[in-house]
Amino acid sequence: MTAVHVPGTPVIEDGRLVSTSPATGAEAGRLPVATAADVERAVALARSAGEWWAGLGFTGRRERLLRWRGLLARRIEELAELVHAEGGKPVADAVVEVVTAVEHVDWAARNARRVLGPRRVRSRLVLAEFSAHLEYQPHGVVGVIGPWNYPVFTPIGSAAYALAAGNAVVFKPSEYTPAVGQWLVDTFAEVVPEQPVFTAVHGLGDVGAALCRSGVDKVAFTGSSATARKVMAACAESLTPVLLEAGGKDAMIVDADADLDAAAEACVWGALTNAGQTCIGIERVYAVEPVFDAFVGKVVERAGRLTVGADDADIGPITMPSQVDVIRRHIDDALARGGRAVLGGADAVQPPYVRPTVLVDVPEDSVAVREETFGPTLTINRVRDADEAVARANALSYGLGGSVFGRRHAVAIARRLRSGMASVNSSLTFAGMSTLPFGGVGDSGFGRIHGEDGLREFSRAKAVTRRRARSLLASTTFDRTPADVARLVKAIKVLYGR
Ligand code: NAD
Repeated sequence: MTAVHVPGTPVIEDGRLVSTSPATGAEAGRLPVATAADVERAVALARSAGEWWAGLGFTGRRERLLRWRGLLARRIEELAELVHAEGGKPVADAVVEVVTAVEHVDWAARNARRVLGPRRVRSRLVLAEFSAHLEYQPHGVVGVIGPWNYPVFTPIGSAAYALAAGNAVVFKPSEYTPAVGQWLVDTFAEVVPEQPVFTAVHGLGDVGAALCRSGVDKVAFTGSSATARKVMAACAESLTPVLLEAGGKDAMIVDADADLDAAAEACVWGALTNAGQTCIGIERVYAVEPVFDAFVGKVVERAGRLTVGADDADIGPITMPSQVDVIRRHIDDALARGGRAVLGGADAVQPPYVRPTVLVDVPEDSVAVREETFGPTLTINRVRDADEAVARANALSYGLGGSVFGRRHAVAIARRLRSGMASVNSSLTFAGMSTLPFGGVGDSGFGRIHGEDGLREFSRAKAVTRRRARSLLASTTFDRTPADVARLVKAIKVLYGR
């Protein structure tokens, strides 16, 4: 990487990773770049720190995680300002992001014992002489690799759950937001000063690749589907388990009996918050014919009112300068192939900003419908009915979230979406619901963060049987006799042979 400063593009200078505001080019962070040896050292330190952390038990970890939650809540403005300065996100959006992260830290800390702690489970009749015990033990060291678009919410979605489960975490933040990543680990160290339980290693993709090969016990990756494939390939070399939270192309379906004002409001928010740079952002809408025109009108009216700019605007700059070309290509392709811009269009692209753009009647095989745009753009296509909407929504290999607006059939439609999550009569709301699992299918990845599944994702089930009586039906011993085997056959026929 050369040392030419393009605002927002990270550079490496004298072994330091320098991040800058995509809006102003002002320096936001300067962090040492880790070598492969540094990464291995961080993992080795985390391994012994993790043993100490696991030894604290659920109560000790809960108390410390809640202290961190308190710190995050008290210093929310400071963190939101840093997110804004480094990634360009409007401060209000950054506040909402931190609020969601705080909620997850709280829930993970409070619920880890209930979900993961030791418990007796029922024995079955054929092995009634044994009692059964289950607990979920930490993996050890979890490597968390994060993206830039939600630099607080996404790593905390993995790290808080991994920590609550008793793991140490080595975190590789995105090279676009290293200062936010460092802030998170530094504040954690303020409340847990004893051991390096949660640390960061900085750099470009090669540092993430080194983390995959460092001997960590699990990798939790959040980022693009293309990188997810590389992460999984690297982890396959050592059979290191992976959690992949990858890209999306989420759809909203607007049914005939939808509240169109509410649908338009949620659509504009879901598509354009964070300038559309949201993995679960609404990128496509399928509205049924009878309500199509009215719905489009309401969306255009709302989206047209949004302000764009560096400070105090609804929509900030595009964080990754290179993404502007992708957004431009998607708009140009949609228009060239017969789509119409009812708001914005080719002229909306004014780096580092893109003004809200709403495209209608875009061919289903165009890149604006099929590929992740990651910009403040939206396609709205008309469909005959909800069945056609579901078929089109499910036609892509991505399957992260989705949204359905309607009354009578909305929940049934949401259940038919091939996605890990859906919100009915709202958008993106599942992300903040700490009681629910978060994750995708297909090209959007696999595994789950958040909720009970999220806690179990960062632990391994440990099953223990314990003899409590002599066996009446001796089967698992060479001392068994032909008569024992005959009794076993008889018993299984009585029990299950009906
Ligand atoms: P990215 O894939 O370019 O980078 C993600 C991280 O991976 C960065 O830290 C990067 O340095 C690292 N990396 C790059 N190459 C690597 C390699 N070979 N091995 C290991 N690590 C490597 O993604 P991005 O541009 O930072 O983030 C945007 C993408 O993330 C979008 O596709 C978005 O949809 C997705 N995303 C998904 C979720 C989710 O929960 N599913 C959440 C947020 C973002």
